[in-house]
Amino acid sequence: MGKIHNFGAGPAKLPEEVYDIIKDELTNFDETGISLLETSHRSPTYFKLNKEVQDVVRRLLDVPSNYKILFLSGGGQGQFAGVPLNLISRTGTADYIVTGAWSAKAAKEAKKYGKVNMVLPPTDRYVDIPEQSTWNLDPNASYVYICTNETIHGVEFDTIPDTKGVPLVADMSSNFMSKKVDVSKFGVIYGGAQKNIGTAGVVLVIVREDLLNQALPICPSILDWTVNAKADSILNTPPMFAILVMGRVLQWIEKQGGLDKMAELATKKSSLIYDIIEDSNGFYYAPVAKNVRSKMNIPFRIGSPTGDDALEKEFLKGAEALNLIQLKGHRDVGGIRASTYNAVTLQEVQTLENYMKDFYKKHAN
Ligand code: PMP
Repeated sequence: MGKIHNFGAGPAKLPEEVYDIIKDELTNFDETGISLLETSHRSPTYFKLNKEVQDVVRRLLDVPSNYKILFLSGGGQGQFAGVPLNLISRTGTADYIVTGAWSAKAAKEAKKYGKVNMVLPPTDRYVDIPEQSTWNLDPNASYVYICTNETIHGVEFDTIPDTKGVPLVADMSSNFMSKKVDVSKFGVIYGGAQKNIGTAGVVLVIVREDLLNQALPICPSILDWTVNAKADSILNTPPMFAILVMGRVLQWIEKQGGLDKMAELATKKSSLIYDIIEDSNGFYYAPVAKNVRSKMNIPFRIGSPTGDDALEKEFLKGAEALNLIQLKGHRDVGGIRASTYNAVTLQEVQTLENYMKDFYKKHAN
């Protein structure tokens, strides 16, 4: 089998160098003679790894000292409940800025625990983010919730919203560590690791300390940030192997030149694809407004704005023949989606670019 180019939205490609490192340490972790898979989570070996991974997160994002770094389970969706359970008690109400399927799901989950104010008018066509001056923000909200990058719809915030002092909570599952962000502008940042920073099983949560100690009494301990912070993320058996993989990915990012380098590459890679779309006279069609087009997940249609089914099928078939895989769009939106996360190389995106150009030449009238 030739080299595979994986454009999947998640679980997504991991850096090739990280596989080499994990392979080497799989059966003899940190010179202990045993695998991390059979190591106690209450051993000095694991305590050391727990700190090592927290440290690399702190370095990469310049996380201020008044923020806790937590490794939790339950996936991104666990935090759809975790966020309101930990934060909504202050006023009983929260603002949700819904810009795609994932923030919509988070808002739905939050309604179980308090009042949810929808900041934007309802839509099922997520293709832009309205001007902040039109937003219906509630000054009494316990927090304002956003998903910085909508994995399915390909809508990415280009600025950090001004919430006038209300804590901002961000789901960064699909653009975590793709660029520098000013952590001090957020109350909480979280994300599942399986897209840009590792494998499924661990959620990275970064929470400002003054937002602890207000969980609802019904909050399960396993989702309670305060309880987990006190236990240094070893409340129960953590997903140790997923935390190791995340650590190795983050150390790899550091070695590549850090988040500025990731941002530079993300801009380059996504521009290659968006430029072909723009230059195709409508043959390729990207529905999302230019200023909020995602640099991580690029959804597009072929043949028309609603997609020509036969052409899209042929595109996917031809792509697979070239080992360009997992390009099928999410079932909610159809069409094609190319995910160009950190681990996807510029060369791989150029291979896709060339295929798109050839396909255009062959099929555009
Ligand atoms: N948020 C975003 C932005 C996502 O893309 C996803 C998963 N695709 C989730 C949350 C849910 O994550 P999980 O599957 O880990 O629960």
